[in-house]
Amino acid sequence: MAKTIIKYISHAGFQITTGAGKIIYIDPWFDNPIGGFSREDVKGASLILVTHDHFDHVGQAPDIVKMTGGLLVANVETGRRLQNEFHIPAEKVCYFGYGMNIGGNLLYEGISITMTQAFHSTASGAPCGYVIKLEDGTTLYHAGDTGIFDSMKLIGELYKIDVAMLPIGSVFTMDPQQAAWATKMISPKKVIPMHYKTFPILVQDTKAFADLVKKEAPAVEVVSLNPGEEYTYGK
Ligand SMILES: [Zn+2]
Repeated sequence: MAKTIIKYISHAGFQITTGAGKIIYIDPWFDNPIGGFSREDVKGASLILVTHDHFDHVGQAPDIVKMTGGLLVANVETGRRLQNEFHIPAEKVCYFGYGMNIGGNLLYEGISITMTQAFHSTASGAPCGYVIKLEDGTTLYHAGDTGIFDSMKLIGELYKIDVAMLPIGSVFTMDPQQAAWATKMISPKKVIPMHYKTFPILVQDTKAFADLVKKEAPAVEVVSLNPGEEYTYGK
């Protein structure tokens, strides 16, 4: 298995560099109040994934599509809104401008993207998460913004997740207790907490989550990252 470099860029934002050197952005946002990602950091990308239509998740995804020539992956209605508003060519939105919906799968340059459900709100379409299977089989799950739901267990069983990225910040998403229980259900090898600290009203650190995972899912390693930090998975 090749190395996968997972960089926590902002809030719910990640930059994934696959073993084959492809780059995937998820929810890329430059304006994170606690920093971690700016225009100068953008690398040539194959795929840009958006989980839902909120400013802190769409972020600069349309800009990055234009800067890199990567393909935008989004829900049908969100994809259409971004395509129209930011004048993105239809061929730069997945499925020739149609976008995707929950349950759908996209195979692109050897990377498999499956859109999963999420329980949240959104200004267009429906919120989602993503299961991302890389060229070498490494499988990532980004839950998007969501409360806990018991089909997370099914996602874990179906896709055998190596690394899960889960929100822990409460207020708008799962809190540490729900996220620790979600970790137990998904049963990934590693879990990276996200969507905390960005705003003063959110949970400010990963300690409570890490303690609860130790109790509920001791086999899972918690990888806590600050914006701008990266983690290498695999050997
Ligand atoms: Zn959010």
